[in-house]
Amino acid sequence: MNALTTLPTEQQMYQAIVQRDVRLEGVFVVAVKTTGIFCRPGCKAKTPKRENVEFFATAAEALAAGYRACRRCRPLELAGSVPAWLANLFALINAEPNRRWTNADLDSLGLSPSRVRRWFQAHYQMTFHAYVRTQRIGLAVDQLQAGSDVTSAAYENGYESLSGFRESLKRWLGTVPTAARQIEPILVQRILTPLGPMLAAGGEKGLCLLEFADRKMLAKQFQRINKLFAQPILIGKHAVLSETDRQIQQYFSGERTQFDLPLRLAGTPFQTAVWNQLLAIPYGETHSYQQLANRLGKPTASRAVGRTNGDNRFAIIVPCHRVIRSDGHLCGYAGGLWRKKWLLNWERENLLPAQQRQLKLPTV
Ligand SMILES: [Zn+2]
Repeated sequence: MNALTTLPTEQQMYQAIVQRDVRLEGVFVVAVKTTGIFCRPGCKAKTPKRENVEFFATAAEALAAGYRACRRCRPLELAGSVPAWLANLFALINAEPNRRWTNADLDSLGLSPSRVRRWFQAHYQMTFHAYVRTQRIGLAVDQLQAGSDVTSAAYENGYESLSGFRESLKRWLGTVPTAARQIEPILVQRILTPLGPMLAAGGEKGLCLLEFADRKMLAKQFQRINKLFAQPILIGKHAVLSETDRQIQQYFSGERTQFDLPLRLAGTPFQTAVWNQLLAIPYGETHSYQQLANRLGKPTASRAVGRTNGDNRFAIIVPCHRVIRSDGHLCGYAGGLWRKKWLLNWERENLLPAQQRQLKLPTV
């Protein structure tokens, strides 16, 4: 087993650098033999020729092989963190979270609105304007819940009129300002991992979702939890999300083999039973769909078990990556087969004494 088997294929990685695909940020770095420099997949420098590149899972490995970090894309900064070209915008959003933004504001910062939109779409599954708007609504709701009056909550969060504030709450939360005092939103936060950024969603009642941000159909999943729990989804922070982040980081540093988080596993009785069976598969082991079906007392239901496995909303935590076909094949994984391989290798190796491990610690 070598570390590269846990990466996307070389062809996929080369394709990503040709297309400057930021979604694979943090998944690998590309080193150029002719210049001795390594880059993030989305680097804006001239695309190197196929025969001159070498791929590494981590910046640490590229450094160990004698390469230097590119000064343009700065691959040593935390994987999936805000890229340099957006740093100023994020600093402004954080300094003034309740400000209203227009495309003209982005232009005046020298940012192309369509490029900004693409980045937010790839990393948050929503446009930049939706991001700042849901953040502003989140702050206004916080303020209302802390006892503030409607007028201050509106004007202090960038609304120019009370009617605009009402309309916005109606559209995003389906409610009026006074009722928003009782509303419990599901909040969304980004979590950075060595396998790329993830999105976590949750709130007072627990965690609702944890998925890799580049997963196909993630926007659909958000719509689904919005319907399932009948709660609005907003960008914001919550203790359950920071605790999820902490436990995920411990998982990736090898210190944690089990999660202790309040999960909202809501589903049909069959789905809930399957997910609970998944939770019982020990770290570092794999079970087959058939084994799960047998344990549920439904030996003919292995297909339905497979489908339910794919409907899992908690990547890594509810370990659907530990389920394989009876013949030992890995088969599908919503977050990408290479991630499934990586997770299985990582868990197996992590159980070995340190000197026998071949997979490098996924440091960034
Ligand atoms: Zn670069």
